[in-house]
Amino acid sequence: MTKLSPKYVGKLPPGAKAMLRAELNSLKPLVKNGIVKGVIIMPGPGCSVSEAQAGTVYPLDEVPPLPLPGCKRSPCCACCYQGVVS
Ligand SMILES: [Zn+2]
Repeated sequence: MTKLSPKYVGKLPPGAKAMLRAELNSLKPLVKNGIVKGVIIMPGPGCSVSEAQAGTVYPLDEVPPLPLPGCKRSPCCACCYQGVVS
């Protein structure tokens, strides 16, 4: 397991931004086809801001960027997106 420096506290680990964007892009056609009705943010363990919104289903074009404002999870934000099947 890699150790992340403290500068990543409350931030995404390296490379995660591209992965999250790819995840949202891959959901686009599924939303179009009606297979997926929205997106949830899966909280990283110990991330209180993301746990507070757990269960909220966002429309694909209104998904808040990660990390959520106020995320102070250490060593880094571990939230991710997940499509919600209709
Ligand atoms: Zn987080």
